[in-house]
This record gives sequence, C-alpha cells and structure tokens, in this order.
Amino acid sequence: MALPTDQRTDDALRVLRRVFGYDSFRGNQREIIDQVVGGGDALVLMPTGGGKSLCYQIPALVRDGVAVVISPLIALMQDQVDALTALGVRAGFLNSTQDFEARRRIESAFVAGELDLLYLAPEALRAESTLRLLDRGTIALFAIDEAHCVAQWGHDFRPDYLALSMLHERWPAVPRIALTATATAATHAEIASRLKLQDARHFVASFDRPNIQYRIAAKREPRKQLLDLLRTEHPGDAGIVYCLSRASVDKTAEFLAQNGIPALPYHAGLDARTRAANQQRFLREDGLVMVATIAFGMGIDKPDVRFVAHLDLPKSIEGYYQETGRAGRDGLPSTAWLAYGLSDVVQQRKMIESSDGDLARRRVLAAHLDAMLALCETVQCRRVQLLRYFGQESSACGNCDTCLTPPESWDGTVAAQKLLSTVLRLHQERNQKFGAGQSIDILLGRGTDKVTQYGHDSLSVFGIGTELSEAEWRAVVRQLLAQGLLAVEGDYGTLVLTESSRDVLRKQRQVTMRREQRVPASAGRSAKPRATGGASVELAPSALPVFERLRAWRAATAKEQGVPAYVIFHDSTLRQIATESPPTLADLGRVNGVGEAKLARYGQQILDTLAV
Ligand code: ADP
Ligand code: ZN
Repeated sequence: MALPTDQRTDDALRVLRRVFGYDSFRGNQREIIDQVVGGGDALVLMPTGGGKSLCYQIPALVRDGVAVVISPLIALMQDQVDALTALGVRAGFLNSTQDFEARRRIESAFVAGELDLLYLAPEALRAESTLRLLDRGTIALFAIDEAHCVAQWGHDFRPDYLALSMLHERWPAVPRIALTATATAATHAEIASRLKLQDARHFVASFDRPNIQYRIAAKREPRKQLLDLLRTEHPGDAGIVYCLSRASVDKTAEFLAQNGIPALPYHAGLDARTRAANQQRFLREDGLVMVATIAFGMGIDKPDVRFVAHLDLPKSIEGYYQETGRAGRDGLPSTAWLAYGLSDVVQQRKMIESSDGDLARRRVLAAHLDAMLALCETVQCRRVQLLRYFGQESSACGNCDTCLTPPESWDGTVAAQKLLSTVLRLHQERNQKFGAGQSIDILLGRGTDKVTQYGHDSLSVFGIGTELSEAEWRAVVRQLLAQGLLAVEGDYGTLVLTESSRDVLRKQRQVTMRREQRVPASAGRSAKPRATGGASVELAPSALPVFERLRAWRAATAKEQGVPAYVIFHDSTLRQIATESPPTLADLGRVNGVGEAKLARYGQQILDTLAV
C-alpha cells in the first residue's frame, strides 16, 4: 500500500532522528527516500561522502520486509553490518567468506523477516539457490551499490553486474535503487539502460566536495615531496597514497616507515590474508597511512581520511575523483594532492598502446587520459574543471591550488615553436625520433654523449633554448602533450608531431602556458581548507582536553568490541560533545550522530567521561 507523501516523509524523518541521530536530510536525500519508500525506482548519482547509504537504509527500515543490498565489496560487509548493528539495525550478509553455520543463521533470519538489511555480492545472484531463498522472504527493496560497475566503458566494470537486470524481471513489484559516485553522462546513461531503470527517477546531486582541497604539483622527487606534505600539513593523520605499480607501493610504504610515518602496503600481489589484515588495521587504528594501488579503497567508508595523495597520474578523471573522494567524508578539511610529470604521460600512453582491447576501447582510454592531462595543466580553478567534467557548472572555488596561488600564464608560442621544430628537424633531416630528454638537451645546447654521438650539435636548433631551464622545458613538453600539439608513441615515448603542431609552426596558433611553480608542494598555502556539512565544529582550546578524553574512551571501547572507532562515534560527534558538554542524557541525545541505540548504550559512559 502506498502511503501519502507526508506520512512517508514523517516516518523517514523519525527514523533519521531516532536511529541515526541526525536532525535533517542532506541535499536530495528526502526526495530519494520518498521515491523508494513509495515503491518507485531511483537512480542516484552522488559524490563519495554525499550520504548515499541513508537513501536505502531508511527505506529499508520504513518499508515492510528486508532490503537486499548488492555490493561488490565482500571484504567490507562485516564492517557495514557492524556499523548498522551498533545503531540497533538488524543486518546480515551472505558471501563466500562465511562458514555454513553463519550462512544458515542469516538465511533463516531473512526468511523469518528478522532482518532489516541483507548484503549480497553480485555473484551470489547467479546461484539459483540464492534466488530461491529470496523468493521465500519479503523483499522491501533492492539497493544496487557501486552501480557504475555495470558500465562496460566505465573504469570499473564487473561482469557480474550485467546479470542484475533480471531483478526487475523476477521481482517486478520490488522497488530498486541504484547508487554510484561516478557520473559522467555516458556512464549515467549506460547504468540506466543496462539495469533496465527506464521508469526510475534520476537524482543527480551536486558533485562538489567543498572540504577537499585539490592540488596538483609537478613531480620532482615524489617521495620526498610526499613526506614534506605529510610532515608539514598532516602529521598524525590517516590517509591514502596511491601508486601505479606494486613495486612503487612497496618502496613508498617502506620509505615512509623509515621516515617515522606509520604506513602499510596494499596491492593485489600481497596474499589475501595480509591485504585483509592491513585493511583492518587502517580502518581500526588512528593515523595510519595506506600506500596502495587502486585495488584499494572502493567502499572504504572511514570518515576521517584526511588526505589522498597520488604519486602517479590517475588514468581518468572518474578514477581520480572517486579516489580523492575517499578523503574527508566527515566534512572536515582534507587534502587531495597529486604529483605528476612527463614520465607519467609517456608511461600511460605506452600502457594504452599495448593494452588489449580493440581500437574503440583504446580511444576511450586515450580520451580519459587527455581529460586528466587537461586538468593537470589548467590555469583555471581545478574544481570548476572537475565539476564541468561531470556536467556541472560552478565558479572559482577558493580552495584549490590554482585559486589559492593563481599560476601565472605566459605566451609559450615561441618556446613551443622551438621544441616542435626540434622534433621536426630530427625527423625530416635525420629521419629520427627521440624522447623528450634528447630534444631538451639539444635546445639547451648540451654536448652530452648521446648528442655528439648522433651529431645533433650540428642541428640549427642546437642551443637555441637556453632561456628556459630543463624543468621549464619539461613543463613545455607536458603542456604541448596536454593540448594535443605534440604526441608520444612507442616503447620509448618518442615525440611526434600532430596535425595541430603545424598550426603552431606556421605561426597560426598562439600557445598559452602555465608557469612552473618554483615553490615546494606544501608552501603557498594561503587559506585554511574549509569544512562542510555541519561537521566543522571548531574546537576551543578549553574543549581540547575533553575531546582527547572522549577519543581515548572511544579507542578503548572500539578495541574491546573489535570495531573501528568511527563505528562508535564519528570525530564530528565527539567534537560537538566536547564543545557543548551536554549535562543530561536528554541533551546528549540532541547531538548530531547520537541516535537511540547509542544513547542507551554509551550515554552514561559519555556523561561520566565528561564529569572527570
Ligand atoms: P556515501 O555512501 O555517499 O559515500 P555515506 O552514506 O557514507 O556517503 O555518508 C557520508 C557521511 O555523511 C556518513 O558519515 C554519514 O553518516 C553522514 N550523513 C549522511 N547523511 C547525513 C545527514 N542527513 N545528516 C548528517 N550526516 C549525514
Ligand atoms: Zn578553485
């Protein structure tokens, strides 16, 4: 039976307050929840940290029956269930990691309607036995999490997701809600069609994450630059460092550890036990740095990740945005920092050229890379460019590197001509192709072995570029690549001209460039990053010792229960408690993030901790 809208909203709001302890819905949560509670389908595009989970967890509690949540994140199901259990919600999961007995228990709880939410991996739905089990219970709704995994041209395709279109055929009356944080127009359309969500309402939230400060630096000594960043801006903070290869993950983790920063590696080359153990420690302990390949992170909902650093160029803006989005889910100021250099471009082009997959697939990969390069080389606000990529217009943010220290732009036309004509001459006069290093040596007039060996010191362009430094020439090459005025090919990343190069050489096109910042990565930070979402309770000095006491209590409690600290309370909740010092249980119950179950369980302990 469909409830009138007012009543649906009332029920939802009551659950929001009673169970989750929050005052009000965020963004379009309310409309989404109304749609699903009312029995309709929804496709939800919301950035990481935007508050997607409530969009199906509240309907799960308001509607009759059990909500079935499909998620690819087997390793995190236990944590998700623990977090819900701490809120007094009845949740369970079925996956391949369970023993027979645990499975049996959850299955019978499902059939008896004694669960609010049941988490399943997509592959489970291929088993006829699972489908028959689902037939025996009452399903409140299907939630399809990480729905972009169904998109073949996206960046995270999982074949098991394709089968999810059958949910609608087998259970036509059960509402479905698909959720993702990846949302270019192409991915959006593909999700809708593959999951047969033609009648769904689409909800597209703002993709902005205002508390994240975006910064992209030229790569010099990436590990040292990273260390500098962590020491000056994030001492003691939890964060994620992404590297492209397993080897560089291991090396970076070791380097950080040697320099006194607690860091753990994570990549597919480690055995499953080590991976799981490292992930557990990252989630449970404070202030650990996870150094990982992109195999790590999907579904990690640790709220207090204070920075995400990339030591290598991500393959796409979608990937970059999803990875950086893991910072600052609690709304507190966080940093997204990326170091990028010429070698990244060469390496990624090479990977694309040698990737399997047809020409169309390689074109998609190349287009992804081009957009990423354009972001790196922009002189405009990074956030404006990021949001535009997701189809959303905005104005300069004031919280990214280009806004905080606007890069100077300069007329690089002559420099571009010098570089391009070096490439042209090598090709035309000598029938040779070389990488960027040789062209730069020629322009700088350096008589290196390789220059003399090939007689490149007799070229007319030899020594005509001494007005720029080597680093500046590398920046010129990068920007020409980013603007499509130059290309790299082959195993050695040799430079070749493009169609558009000719326009520059014929003086028909001006080239504007971004001046290399000569300051270190962490300098030039003139504004404090902002917090959002009401989580930004600034701590007065007098509240600090109270906050520390609450944190110590939380750490002890979390350890005792074997759950991550944030499952007990988020930092933002502890901050508010420390600031307001609520004298009674009733006052404590009004703090954001203190719902009924947690008030009953921890309320008195909190008051005691405050009274010390
Ligand atoms: P997503 O899944 O979209 O990445 P989550 O569902 O994990 O985001 O939510 C991000 C954070 O915001 C969580 O800590 C969650 O508890 C909090 N949150 C979500 N909705 C609200 C709300 N209406 N009021 C206050 N906090 C909220
Ligand atoms: Zn900006």
